Amino acid sequence: MNKIIILTIFAFLSITFFCCNRASTSNDKLISNDLDIETKDSTITEEIKPNISKEYILGKINPATDSMFVQVPQKYCLMRTEYIHKDVLEPYIAMYEAAALNNINLGLISAYRSFDTQAWLWNSRYYNSGNPEASAKAVLKYIAMPGTSRHHWGTDIDVLQTKLYFFETEEGKKAYQWMCDHAHEYGFYQVYTANRPTGYNEEKWHWTYLPVSQFYLEQFKEKITYQDLTGFSGSEVAEKLRVIDDYVFGIDSLLLNN
Ligand SMILES: [Zn+2]
Repeated sequence: MNKIIILTIFAFLSITFFCCNRASTSNDKLISNDLDIETKDSTITEEIKPNISKEYILGKINPATDSMFVQVPQKYCLMRTEYIHKDVLEPYIAMYEAAALNNINLGLISAYRSFDTQAWLWNSRYYNSGNPEASAKAVLKYIAMPGTSRHHWGTDIDVLQTKLYFFETEEGKKAYQWMCDHAHEYGFYQVYTANRPTGYNEEKWHWTYLPVSQFYLEQFKEKITYQDLTGFSGSEVAEKLRVIDDYVFGIDSLLLNN
């Protein structure tokens, strides 16, 4: 009888130990992921954090004279010279060089974009059909309303090609696969992934440097309202189309959870 009791206690203790061990292993993993992000987040210095203005988030600054931005060396730009957030340049170049070793060209198509440039892009695609909701919705398939683009923060980049057919080619598939496998090693993540419930269509070319951009997303949430979105065609339907709730925050869930 005693033997049975001892065996039962032993079995119970073994199971408890096994389960606790499993739990702590997976918790450790979660904690280390969090720490990883925190460490990278510290690239934004404390003295800069409180100084992020509304104008900054809306892309209403001049990157050529703003100390938060740097010019990207021309060899990394596929077209015009780009500006980028100063903490993003180094990791971007590291990723670019690693991809280049695999014959993949991660040259920039676009990095920082001002409110005015976004307004020009938006207005040039906005067809006034007499129904502003439908007109704006058509542009919103791929283009952000001015003031809501992540390109305003200098933390996001368009690379490879912005043409859908490129990603159907062997070259495009290989390059995109490389990004899926390795971009996170440099802190970059795809923002507009497939199968999200709301927001823009999938964009395989648009990647964000998460350690910095997550801070700007928080700043956006804190400081920007629908009343700030004015000065372009169809701005009056921004709230009705929920461009902040469904588009700015309609991003890959991984980027929201962190
Ligand atoms: Zn983009």
